[in-house]
Amino acid sequence: MKKRTFLKIAGVSLASYVLVPHFGCKNPTQKKDSKQTMLPPFTLPDLPYDYNALETNIDARTMEIHHSKHHAGYVKKLSAAVAGSAFAGMSLEEVFPKLTMDDDGVRNNGGGHFNHSLFWKNMSPAGKGKPEGDLLSAIQTTFGDFETFRKLYWKEAKTVFGSGWAWLCKDSENKLFITSTPNQDNPLMTKLVEKTGTPLLALDVWEHAYYLKYQNRRGDYIDSFFNVINWDEVSRRFNE
Ligand code: MN
Repeated sequence: MKKRTFLKIAGVSLASYVLVPHFGCKNPTQKKDSKQTMLPPFTLPDLPYDYNALETNIDARTMEIHHSKHHAGYVKKLSAAVAGSAFAGMSLEEVFPKLTMDDDGVRNNGGGHFNHSLFWKNMSPAGKGKPEGDLLSAIQTTFGDFETFRKLYWKEAKTVFGSGWAWLCKDSENKLFITSTPNQDNPLMTKLVEKTGTPLLALDVWEHAYYLKYQNRRGDYIDSFFNVINWDEVSRRFNE
């Protein structure tokens, strides 16, 4: 091969690598923005930390399977479900309020993609245990104090029957409330769930989220989740 031809090929492949960072890229400056992954074509967001970063609260094996198999599966099936449907080309935020009982594929996989994307971001190895500022004030106004909020959220998550999610949300007047949804539903699916609002904090209580380490002890898993909540991110969403 002539030197010039080689440089041309090398240049092209280097350029495409830089423009489209592949999954698993370790360079934090090239992590996919999770907002972008909610727009078609839907893609799996990189975790904002390594699989083992939440040890010993959430084990690396669970994180790896949960992200690279479960979440990746929802993304793949979502793309197939929206292709050729009335939802093609829409962002998930546009899709959710339109969903009805007849939209199973987009409902389950769109919820799966959105909910997990939120869940990864509202955890951090640098979790501080307690919120501050405006969010803490709002929690105190609504629930009395942080400990009471913690107990109510814990109970909501513990008592989800079967698979689902526990949520801290804000309503249209910025008032906080706790709710839960079955399966992969979320509070943005206004025609499908009891209480609707903007999700601030998401907790996955499907068994796949904790069974390897905690088996049937969902309560212990919820306790551990509270050790790794990224309250800065929850506050950012509250103030948005
Ligand atoms: Mn999950």
